Amino acid sequence: MKKLLPLAALLCGPAVAQTAPALDDPDLVGRYQATITPAELAGHLYVYADDFLAGRETGEPGQRFAARYLAGQYATMGIAPKGSGADNGNLGLDPYLQPFALEQSSLQRLTATVTRGGETVLTHVLAPDALGDVHLVPAYGQVEGAAAGPVVYVGEGSALGGLELGGAYAIMTPGADQGATRAALAAAGAAGVRAILLASAPTADALQRPAAGAFEAGRLSLPAVDGADDDGGGLPPILLTSRETVDALMTAAGIEAGGDTYPTGDTGLALAVNAEYETQTVMSENVVAFIEGSDLRDEFVVVSAHLDHVGDDGDGEDAIYNGADDDGSGTVTILEIAEAFQAAKENGHGPRRSILFLHVSGEEKGLLGSEYYADREPLVPIENTVTNLNIDMIGRYDPERGFDTTDYVYIIGGDLISQDLSDWNAAVNSATGTDLFLSDRFNSPDDPNQFFRRSDHWNFGKYDVPFIFYFTGTHEDYHGVGDHADKIDYERMARIGRLIFGTAWEVANRDERPAVSGVGFN
Ligand SMILES: [Zn+2]
Repeated sequence: MKKLLPLAALLCGPAVAQTAPALDDPDLVGRYQATITPAELAGHLYVYADDFLAGRETGEPGQRFAARYLAGQYATMGIAPKGSGADNGNLGLDPYLQPFALEQSSLQRLTATVTRGGETVLTHVLAPDALGDVHLVPAYGQVEGAAAGPVVYVGEGSALGGLELGGAYAIMTPGADQGATRAALAAAGAAGVRAILLASAPTADALQRPAAGAFEAGRLSLPAVDGADDDGGGLPPILLTSRETVDALMTAAGIEAGGDTYPTGDTGLALAVNAEYETQTVMSENVVAFIEGSDLRDEFVVVSAHLDHVGDDGDGEDAIYNGADDDGSGTVTILEIAEAFQAAKENGHGPRRSILFLHVSGEEKGLLGSEYYADREPLVPIENTVTNLNIDMIGRYDPERGFDTTDYVYIIGGDLISQDLSDWNAAVNSATGTDLFLSDRFNSPDDPNQFFRRSDHWNFGKYDVPFIFYFTGTHEDYHGVGDHADKIDYERMARIGRLIFGTAWEVANRDERPAVSGVGFN
């Protein structure tokens, strides 16, 4: 008679071995890095950047199909969903989606009246069929209601102290230094101005084009919710005006120019503006998939890229902005990274920390999808999100990079917020043989291009989540109709994908999370 096995031997297998960090076992990582291939990246990207997706404009059918293409890839790979409805047990694509509503507001009409001591100095109507003399064009934010306020001249805005700006309309004449103008706009906003009249054009005529543009496709934004601050960097509403109009107003106010400027201070004029908008709701969605970790499963590495682009402009021979590089390249690279992690997990080398694959929408409209995720519905806790690796445009060459090699990637973030993360990324690049030239050309909060806040990592960095933004720079087809899949360097893109995979592996499997050692961008 056969001897019975003790029950305990059936139930207790050996303890599951913890997967080693990349730097401890680069050969193991290399086995899965090798699954990230140029051919598979190209296979995805030629579909993803096809004309049929019509440039993946936020909220439009092409973008919404793009989200479902990605969800379908995760379902096929057997990678779990982590969207808003992921726990309802449904099959299909919905569990991968994180839907959110956007408000689209379109300018219908603007009326403005300038008075001096009760006498009307100027009345102005801006409507699609009334683009004659253009004096004021809404350019940023919304001027609410028909509120009247004093008009204060602030010059370049370099000395706002002592000026009474609460509730005022401030006339600002921008100088050549854009950084100084931005700072002045923010300072005026902080001082409580109702809006800025920015004299950005020489003549009223030069405002014709911006005026026509103001009535085109409406601005998308997240609907306001109580307690959430707007993420416009604290800028007040901005109305464009011309120096010609400013001169006319100052003449009406009886104020004489001193040289090519005017004395700062209250002009004695009052302005009432009423801008009417029509708003409608547009639905969009992020796509979220998930590989659960083992012993450190309650900490998370987020790998992100944006799934949307800027659509098409409806006429011309090739009017579609395909966005193969921006950001088809980052998008399909995440699919390959996810596939590599899934293969490792199936072979018993799953990550210790959990990994979230996050494809956000609305990036091109102001980082809206990542803002929604980070501020309103984080699907895993932000405080346990140990790193964000964000990928936006890694397929082309920057013609102005200033060095010869094409085997490079710009590393932005990294040491500015976490020296650990920066060091690990560089060490993985050497140890696993991806051997890219890691350029820090744009890695500065003072860089005039401001790339450090121009993609979705920003919405993690503002919560002190260490991040690296991987980027190969802009080029002649940036936000152009020529951003096509056949112009991508798939070999180099695969190498960058392998580096990001290796760095994600390192972060996911070390005992410690990367320490926040810098002030980041806050
Ligand atoms: Zn982009």
